[in-house]
Amino acid sequence: MTRSLTVLGATGSVGASTLDLVRRNPDAWRVEALTAHSNVADLAALAKEFGAKIAVIADDTRLGELREALAGSDVEAAAGRAALCEAAARPADIVMAAIVGCAGLGPVMAAIEQGRTVALANKEALVSAGEVMTAAVEKHGATLLPVDSEHNAIFQCLQGGKLDEVRSITLTASGGPLRLVEDLEAVTPEQAIAHPNWDMGAKISVDSATMFNKGLELIEAHHLFPVGLDRIRIVVHPQSVIHSMVEYRDGSTLAQLGPSDMRVPIASCLAYPARMDTPMAPLDLAVIGELSFFQPDETRFPATKLARQAAEAGGAAPATLNAANEVAVAAFLAGQIKFSRIAALVEDTLNAGNLPPAPRSLDDVLVLDEAARKAATARMETA
Ligand code: NDP
Ligand code: MG
Repeated sequence: MTRSLTVLGATGSVGASTLDLVRRNPDAWRVEALTAHSNVADLAALAKEFGAKIAVIADDTRLGELREALAGSDVEAAAGRAALCEAAARPADIVMAAIVGCAGLGPVMAAIEQGRTVALANKEALVSAGEVMTAAVEKHGATLLPVDSEHNAIFQCLQGGKLDEVRSITLTASGGPLRLVEDLEAVTPEQAIAHPNWDMGAKISVDSATMFNKGLELIEAHHLFPVGLDRIRIVVHPQSVIHSMVEYRDGSTLAQLGPSDMRVPIASCLAYPARMDTPMAPLDLAVIGELSFFQPDETRFPATKLARQAAEAGGAAPATLNAANEVAVAAFLAGQIKFSRIAALVEDTLNAGNLPPAPRSLDDVLVLDEAARKAATARMETA
């Protein structure tokens, strides 16, 4: 049976991995809508290749360009933030949420409000909205399938299990490209982006280097699998073979293993609850040889500590942490601040005091996100 699919963030790394699986299974999927931020050429090419009904470019100054690129095809063109949310709300069996940053929150919520099945890669959206999103999922009977490899691993290890029988959840972290680099002051964007195991977009690659990725994932796990923050642990596992683990009350620990290729967790969401073929080579543990594990170094990489504190504080803190981190990462990538300033800027923004009250609606989260961005930018400029 053919199922329909919308991909938000189709031109990115997760978008490309998703569409690669669709390309390999042309009879299984029909593409409803594809979106991008500013990459008109790739968006139009993908929309034509997959026969999408609509292609949406978030940057509304590019609508003319998109129309031109789609001329002669049956693909409808649209632009702007409202069009993005409308695309996300269109009927589809599954909506892949693969926009980067809190910019993806509006579209994710639009899909949730239609009760859709959302394959969620866009962790910043869940970190910022937290209970606002999980409450909307409940209210509208939507389904969240975690794409993030760790959360997908936990989701798989929880099949047939119950949360109240879980003793702990362990998120594995590769430790990123800078784990063994001594001088973090001198790190360049190129070094930070060069991830040893995963090929990903620039923002998450920097997050991986600072360990904010794991911090965001801790908050993500806290919302997806509410076992209590004190039961969610982080262990550094440089080989990225075990993607995460669930320990049950009887002492059994289940782990999910696989190659470091996002097509594995994406396939598990696309086919859920069934399984589908992927082009992955079999996992050969004898070739891998050794799996190693370390405690995270929260002195050199304070991000996981900051994220845990923000999650414990709740309210406006997680959205503030996320927004400040987005501002800091963009500034680092633009050569405006040093690598070591990223965590400091997040910490300063969180500790500036007077955080607004806990958000209760999507609009509250968006206002909070905007205010935290302004506060982080102001701190950066006066530093
Ligand atoms: P990329 O940077 O590769 O792609 C981001 C996508 O979002 C692109 O299609 C981009 O469009 C679009 N986009 C960017 N900004 C906006 C905006 N303001 N409004 C609308 N669309 C926008 O990111 P990744 O694919 O690496 O990551 C996507 C999400 O998945 C992130 O939240 C990340 O944390 C998460 N994730 C990614 C993993 C990975 O392996 N890459 C693994 C686990 C989670 P354009 O191309 O036009 O800029
Ligand atoms: Mg991950």
